Amino acid sequence: EGGGNMAVSGEGAPEGLCGPERPGAGGLALLGLAPSAPSCPHGPALLFVKTSQGKEEGRRFYACSACRDRKDCNFFQWEDEKVSETRLAAREEYNRNHQPPFTHRQNVERYKNFVLLPLSRRRFCQQCQQLLLPAEWEKHLDHQFLCDISTAQLKSPSQLLYPLENKKTNAQYLFAGRSCQFLLDLIIDLGFRRVLSVGTPRLHEMIQSKASQEDFRVRSLLLDIDFRYSQFYTEDEFCHYNMFNHYFFGGEAAHETCRKFLYQGSGERVIMVTDPPFGGLVEALASSFKKLMAMWKETEKEGHNQEMPMFWIFPYFFESRILEFFPSFSMMDYQVDYDNHALYKHGKTGRRQSPVRIFTNLTPSMIVLPVEEGYRFCAVCQRYVSSGNQHCEICNSCTSKDGRRWKHCVLCKKCVKPSWFHCNNCNCCALQNHTCEKTDAVCFVCGKAGHKRSTCPSLSHT
Ligand code: SAH
Ligand code: ZN
Ligand code: ZN
Ligand code: ZN
Ligand code: ZN
Repeated sequence: EGGGNMAVSGEGAPEGLCGPERPGAGGLALLGLAPSAPSCPHGPALLFVKTSQGKEEGRRFYACSACRDRKDCNFFQWEDEKVSETRLAAREEYNRNHQPPFTHRQNVERYKNFVLLPLSRRRFCQQCQQLLLPAEWEKHLDHQFLCDISTAQLKSPSQLLYPLENKKTNAQYLFAGRSCQFLLDLIIDLGFRRVLSVGTPRLHEMIQSKASQEDFRVRSLLLDIDFRYSQFYTEDEFCHYNMFNHYFFGGEAAHETCRKFLYQGSGERVIMVTDPPFGGLVEALASSFKKLMAMWKETEKEGHNQEMPMFWIFPYFFESRILEFFPSFSMMDYQVDYDNHALYKHGKTGRRQSPVRIFTNLTPSMIVLPVEEGYRFCAVCQRYVSSGNQHCEICNSCTSKDGRRWKHCVLCKKCVKPSWFHCNNCNCCALQNHTCEKTDAVCFVCGKAGHKRSTCPSLSHT
């Protein structure tokens, strides 16, 4: 099963059963960003509801928006909990103490001093993930460090920093050079001059290092929660940002930086590109992206009815979730490859199929996919499709999602994965060895049949 057994938690299961959604981890549902939400070091917490099947209402609580692993941020508060003044004060103190050791401004100053140093005095502490100035060496003597940090290394921080590997919270999957170059070429061919890079440090870095070349006019602003990047970029190039609650750690000034960047003076068209962690909550991401889109729109004087162009890079099995929030989006067949993900990268022997795709609100026919990699244009669908994706005459569409040739099921009235068979018990197609599960046919929030979690009447969506 190419791309079938991925380590992805949460909602869109790759080989999920058809019918209503399966319960998320531990029966948790996101309610969203409440106006009076308490804050943890990662900004305002999100409101969740803990549910048990069959129960009318679950108990609501706040938890960290960015960290799904309690080990990384253990913020927790019941919605109806009375928090004492002492605890509030302690919490504020805790939040202050859990900010990075240097501010972004300080890091920019440090960088300026760092590049003045001769090569032999340029060190990077691998343990602290920090550029070191000579006066600081002493404190890091028993740490592993790199010497002779070159300008080239400073220009590719995503190679210098180790990718964060926390599976649950913040696994960093870096684009393979080929995919990154494809994205940038596409952006340029489409005529964009500015890229809002949300959680795409490698794309940002590719743009930044080309920006020093004379005839290269594209600019990028990186929004990312990984503060290590503030060591390499100025406040006009990087904002410390949480994409699950649309929180700018740098406050109003950072907001303003972003706003300015989105303002398309002199016809400089902007596109947003994002590659969020896959374990992430789609509704939280969508709500933040809508706020970024609104920021873009506000900068437009004419106030025309367009949306900010966007590439949302995400696995194909989240398609229906993304379309729920962004009906104007469509999924492209292009398979995005990664450097440090065993499952998603090209193998030496032939291709490992990556499940990661580009979702966009641009007209699909404009997204030209590389013919030399087997993509072809389907004149009926008016978009580029992967080589294995056959146009189904009955569906009147190129129906494959994963790149393999899918087959049409007359009973389901749609195309399904080649490995699936129609199950008369479940009344839908599934893997041959699946277990027929009737319990899946109820909403896991309220336990009643007839609707999905996302439309459950017992949840008031914020
Ligand atoms: N493929 C991309 C990297 C994607 S990995 C590239 O090569 O450029 C996901 C990225 O999102 C990482 O850079 C990570 O630091 C960032 N990220 C994770 N959680 C985030 C959050 N809550 N807010 C903002 N960025 C986040
Ligand atoms: Zn150190
Ligand atoms: Zn087609
Ligand atoms: Zn079909
Ligand atoms: Zn079927």
